Amino acid sequence: MIHGLFIIGGGINGCGIARDAAGRGLSVFLAEQGDLASGTSSASTKLIHGGLRYLEHYEFRLVREALIEREVLLKAAPHIIWPLRFVLPHHAGLRPRPILRLGLFLYDHLGGRKILPPTRSVDLRSDVVGQPLKDEYARGYEYSDCWVQDSRMVALNARDAATRGAVIRTRTRCTRARRVDGVWEMTLESEGGSSETVRAKVLINAGGPWVSQVLGEVVGRADPDRIRMVKGSHIVVERLYDHDRCYIFQNADGRICFAIPYEQDFTLIGTTDEDYKGDPGKPHITEAEADYLLASVSEYFKRPVTRAMVRWTYSGIRPLYDDGASKAQEATRDYVLKLDHPEGEAPLLSVFGGKITTFRKLSEHALEKLAPFFPGLGKPWTASAHLPGGDFPYDQVEEQIASLRKAYSFLPRREAERLFRTFGTDAEKMLAGARFAKDLGQSFGPLSEREAQWLIDKEWARAPEDILWRRSKLGLHMPVAEQSALRDWFARQPAHA
Ligand SMILES: Cc1cc2nc3c(=O)[nH]c(=O)nc-3n(C[C@H](O)[C@H](O)[C@H](O)COP(=O)(O)OP(=O)(O)OC[C@H]3O[C@@H](n4cnc5c(N)ncnc54)[C@H](O)[C@@H]3O)c2cc1C
Repeated sequence: MIHGLFIIGGGINGCGIARDAAGRGLSVFLAEQGDLASGTSSASTKLIHGGLRYLEHYEFRLVREALIEREVLLKAAPHIIWPLRFVLPHHAGLRPRPILRLGLFLYDHLGGRKILPPTRSVDLRSDVVGQPLKDEYARGYEYSDCWVQDSRMVALNARDAATRGAVIRTRTRCTRARRVDGVWEMTLESEGGSSETVRAKVLINAGGPWVSQVLGEVVGRADPDRIRMVKGSHIVVERLYDHDRCYIFQNADGRICFAIPYEQDFTLIGTTDEDYKGDPGKPHITEAEADYLLASVSEYFKRPVTRAMVRWTYSGIRPLYDDGASKAQEATRDYVLKLDHPEGEAPLLSVFGGKITTFRKLSEHALEKLAPFFPGLGKPWTASAHLPGGDFPYDQVEEQIASLRKAYSFLPRREAERLFRTFGTDAEKMLAGARFAKDLGQSFGPLSEREAQWLIDKEWARAPEDILWRRSKLGLHMPVAEQSALRDWFARQPAHA
């Protein structure tokens, strides 16, 4: 069989393109060398945002597209995406107030905002959001963006793609791709050691930080286009304050740093921006990065944030298009799609850059470029479609959680909320028939055997880490004993292809 598209990479861009293409009737095969979202797409700051800072670099196209996407995606997946208000304290020594006001005015108006509330100025001496901050911060602004559970969005795109006929193969590396008789021929090697050959009309390289490596080592190109790998690290600390808003702090070096309410009990702080040369699969936070983040937020919070408060860290690589910028923070955040189509040869489309926020538009643009090779290709459709579990109005989350609790009265409020924020309307399907907690099988603390099985069957979870750190963030909440019980249970499960 010859597929329409073969996609290398199960991050947000590969899975987004797979979903869009499958929904337009193409036969799609996606190979991911690790778990879904095991690359950059689980290591983001998890914002669906226009990127206020990018206005300073005149990235108006990107900011406008991303601002519009906030509400499109909020409606598509209101279980895993929610509105978030950002508090920007004014710092007398940094950007002048008129510049901030102009930036926020543009931010409010560039993207046709309808749902998200507008910017307001805040008196930090009287408003609750000023309480955790040092007294010298008297004035500030509050504006809107959204939050997303990044790795869940990848899994839901993959699920939707598979429902529409795409083959999604995880833990399967594409080791070689060559043009043979007018089509692409790929060699795949699975983690278990088996290999297979797959053919497709078009090859999509959505390898994220591996995109150049794929061009060189897999496709065999002598002069692959370069990306700039820019590492960003985050720290997760004990919860620093009680309200539900996020802070955006300006640092003396011109960068910004977020402090975001995270997983109920924590605050997420990030990020750094450092050129990176190592293995894209193994970025780690350095002591200097951790110190930088702790110092950045301690400049603003009354209570210093210290090493002892750090509970977890993660790092990821931004696969930015190399536009020759001198500083990492100045490299373009916009994406570039490069089509390689020598006369009469099978096309190759490579994806450089691309934010979580813009994956849907990136996917549409990718298919627009490929339309000439697929006469009769379906029209764009994802702007008004829901992701799995997201088929309810974006402003009805509380009602949905209440109805889940009514149907499954054994669920504590916090658990019902977590399940709904994970599965949306699919939570009912996952829990179907259960009358008591024991009906969900073995319990690993907040996680049940039923949920783990769902994640294996429907979301390609193949190891405890896939569940603890990507399908959920339960790894932050479950003590060692519960995690060990999950590992033991996993070891007893039959192997999945
Ligand atoms: C620190 C940081 C913060 C960020 N914050 C935000 C944010 O708040 N909001 C936002 O919108 N964006 C943010 N981004 C950007 C966003 O996370 C990335 O641009 C996006 O996740 C890239 O997705 P991708 O699919 O291109 O790459 P990836 O997610 O890395 O996916 C590529 C996949 O390809 C696979 N692969 C590679 N080679 C092969 C092969 N030979 N065979 C099979 N599979 C292969 C890899 O295993 C990997 O899973 C942030 C990025 C970073 C690093």
